[in-house]
Amino acid sequence: MKNNLKEFRFFETYETASWLEHAVTSPDTFIELPWEDDDVRKSLCKYSKVSVLEQYIFSMLAVEKRISYRKNIYDLMPDDIAEFKSIFSEYGIELRNENSFNPFGDEYDEYDHFYLWFEYQEDSFVHLWEQITEEVFHLLFSNRGFLLDFNKSLSTYIENNSDIVPANYRNDNGKIKRASNLPAWVKKAVFFRDQGRCVFCHKDLSGLLSTDRVIHYDHMVPLNRWGVNDPSNIQLLCEECNLKKGGNHLSTSTRYKEWW
Ligand SMILES: [Zn+2]
Repeated sequence: MKNNLKEFRFFETYETASWLEHAVTSPDTFIELPWEDDDVRKSLCKYSKVSVLEQYIFSMLAVEKRISYRKNIYDLMPDDIAEFKSIFSEYGIELRNENSFNPFGDEYDEYDHFYLWFEYQEDSFVHLWEQITEEVFHLLFSNRGFLLDFNKSLSTYIENNSDIVPANYRNDNGKIKRASNLPAWVKKAVFFRDQGRCVFCHKDLSGLLSTDRVIHYDHMVPLNRWGVNDPSNIQLLCEECNLKKGGNHLSTSTRYKEWW
């Protein structure tokens, strides 16, 4: 059996999540995704285990880090390198041998070479960003308020750039077609995240407490409103609430039950 357990280390996880909560309200930030890649464009249309949200987190992180390391080229000190070395070792990420890293020859000045060190070790940084992305994704996927903001901005971006949707996945009106079925792994994840309850009325949909359960997997941002077939856009509803919401409303609920 595949062991799916991950160990979290929470390096920059919360600050990245909090930064993205603000950034995501701007649809323009979606320009950072590598839309020239067919797989990225298809992931809008058919449920992909590498979700659009995960790709967004990684792209934003990579762009932001590259800019900030370059901008602060003279601010970052040897301490930063030492700190990164310990983070890399904690995550089990290997670094390139530094024997050939001597950017200044005899004029070697350890106080201003962070950016050069970053460029030399860039592959390892990319690995680190992938790890951070997994952790941030785990955190944000359980935050439906964030997911709604994410899908709202994404839908606005798609409406303004509808040619990023591959032609064979589009309806006559240009919007994304409904996928033929919702994969079992999406249902399982959403059911677990929403704790087997309708997110609006908290009706139990587990089948343990009632026999009349009808489960609806709902698009927070409907396809009709330029929504996507991505796990981040799906929530659990009971039949009554789904009928009330209809096919044209963008909504979720962030109410929760206290631990005790
Ligand atoms: Zn309900």
